[in-house]
Amino acid sequence: MRLRYDVIVVGGGHAGVEAAAASARLGAATVLVTPDLTRIGQMSCNPAVGGVAKGTVAREVGAMGGVMAQATDASRIQFRMLNRSKGPAVWGPRAQCDRSRYPVAVRRILDGFSDLDLFQETVTDLLVDAGSGERPGRVQGVKTRGGATFEAKAVVVTAGTFLRGRLHVGGSAVLGAGRAGEAPSVSFAEALEGRGLQVARFKTGTPPRVDGRTVDFARCQRQDGDEGSDAFRFCSYAREPLLDQRPCWITWTGDGLKEIVARNLARSALYGGEISGRGPRYCPSIEDKVVRFPNAPRHQVFLEPEGLDVAEVYVNGLSTSLPAEGQMEFLRTIPGLEEAKITKAGYAIEYDYFPPRQLRHTLEVRQMPGLYFAGQINGTTGYEEAAGQGLIAGANAALAVQGRPSLVVERDQGYVGVLLDDLVTKGVDEPYRLFTSRAEFRLLLRQDNGPSRLGVIARKIGLLTDEQERVLTERLADESRALAWFRNTLLSPKAANPALEGVGSSPISAPKRARDLLRRPGVGANALLAAGGGECAPSFGADVLATVEMDAKYEGYVRREAERAAKLRAQAAFPIPEDTPFAEFVTLSREARQKLSEVRPTSLAQAGRIPGVSPADLDNLVLELRKLTANDTARRAELNEGATSSS
Ligand code: FAD
Repeated sequence: MRLRYDVIVVGGGHAGVEAAAASARLGAATVLVTPDLTRIGQMSCNPAVGGVAKGTVAREVGAMGGVMAQATDASRIQFRMLNRSKGPAVWGPRAQCDRSRYPVAVRRILDGFSDLDLFQETVTDLLVDAGSGERPGRVQGVKTRGGATFEAKAVVVTAGTFLRGRLHVGGSAVLGAGRAGEAPSVSFAEALEGRGLQVARFKTGTPPRVDGRTVDFARCQRQDGDEGSDAFRFCSYAREPLLDQRPCWITWTGDGLKEIVARNLARSALYGGEISGRGPRYCPSIEDKVVRFPNAPRHQVFLEPEGLDVAEVYVNGLSTSLPAEGQMEFLRTIPGLEEAKITKAGYAIEYDYFPPRQLRHTLEVRQMPGLYFAGQINGTTGYEEAAGQGLIAGANAALAVQGRPSLVVERDQGYVGVLLDDLVTKGVDEPYRLFTSRAEFRLLLRQDNGPSRLGVIARKIGLLTDEQERVLTERLADESRALAWFRNTLLSPKAANPALEGVGSSPISAPKRARDLLRRPGVGANALLAAGGGECAPSFGADVLATVEMDAKYEGYVRREAERAAKLRAQAAFPIPEDTPFAEFVTLSREARQKLSEVRPTSLAQAGRIPGVSPADLDNLVLELRKLTANDTARRAELNEGATSSS
């Protein structure tokens, strides 16, 4: 066991796993230190990966060679593409996973890296040199509870909800814990704070689990996965055989539950004044729902299987910190759960996080070179957000140690870029989770095209394994071949019309290029391939065809977004005059006008970093500034003209 490494990763949650794997893939000698090796990759909350925006991040992590996509593929017991009836910019792949198989898959992947050691210990402090003059102290390693000291030039901290974690069930039961059944990290939290880092508190909650044998599923609505389950990593080639697939179920809360929650509010840790930290507004507890939406007649509840070998069911939508008896009482009011037995009560947890404006885009802490933070400790919530940050922090830690340029993903290159930029420039005032509305280039950042956006970047810096590189190269070559086939193949009316008429698209009377026909709504790539090649049609993977089809159907929009992204990048350096009358720019939101007037940014890049100034405000600001310049030029021309004519 070496005690000197290139990179140390503290914590084995979703951020830590990706950080360690990314660092090891880049060839850095890496150690992952975590209190319990059997809990590496544990899903603290529901056993599911993905969803709208989050699913795109999971695929982006996959495109950069990350663990989450592979482990999800190996443990998924249901796959659904959410929002399929809407535009592709908001499609969201989501997988229900087997809670016990997911971490096994993670561990198998980590054990495959020769440059990665795992060590079971709790980190209690950082080793930091004294610095000199203006130079801040640099991280040198970590100390552990058992006395072992690890040295490294870079340390990635991913301690999740463990830092001074306090767990609440009901208003009175409070335990120090990082997660149910696990000790909190108190000395490490104190040590970090003692080093002058800014700290704040957030809270989150989890719902009860029930014994599936006591649920009356006949009273619930069945929700099956998609036919032919899809994959999260970027290849349709190297898939493991699918596990048995399981349905989820939907039911609803009603008035009975509202009354019970309202009656018990004073005993809720979240509402009884026990917890001061802020919680995730977009993932509200049932207490929140009842208080904030008193007139809503009912709330949806998803019953999700925890795995293939257990009967336990996760009751998604009922996150709570009411006492266990209150939880039992309200479950009785829900169709299907009248007889349900609770196996684990829901609880809330509050914990330290480090406001992320202390970080660079690489996730390095500004005031302490060599120290990186990733995951929930940066004020985010969610496995995917943690994984995306972990991959970036781990890669950057390794690249810095190797003296190589940093990996920065821009907002137009990935949701990961949106996440990092939001955290670092806007900060957080509640647990941050990703939504499609946070991204301004949604058609560029689709769930299907991660390989060409981020796979190529990962390949360039050596972040992919040889096998991943081979699969990526194959996938991109297939995409080019498919694109060429659709561009170059002329389809006769005789060949094309049956495919067109089958989907209600008007027939053609003269030969047309396959790609032009693919642009039509409802016309699928597979049908055109068959029409164009008959039995000799080339075959492409479903994921390749999906990308080619979406690029064709949304070509104009995609081009416009790409142009806008390029323009915005150029405009980031756009200077803003000191005397700009921001308050007069009525095309900007009121909040943006107020914040701009307060901060008075001198460049568009700086304006974009101000919380409350949205990408749409920035677009409008550019237009307003252009208008000002044009008016100014016109006024000056008029003055000149006047001066010339009067002279
Ligand atoms: P974690 O998964 O928490 O992992 C932290 C790791 O650090 C653990 O391995 C831990 O043992 C290790 N560690 C801690 N201290 C030390 C130390 N001193 N030395 C070494 N190792 C250390 N997300 C949602 O999207 N929706 C939800 O509804 C939701 N609800 C949640 C409810 C609860 C009760 C909890 C606990 C989490 C919830 N989450 C939810 C959040 C989700 O679980 C996290 O966002 C995600 O797990 C964060 O990943 P992470 O890697 O940052 O941290």
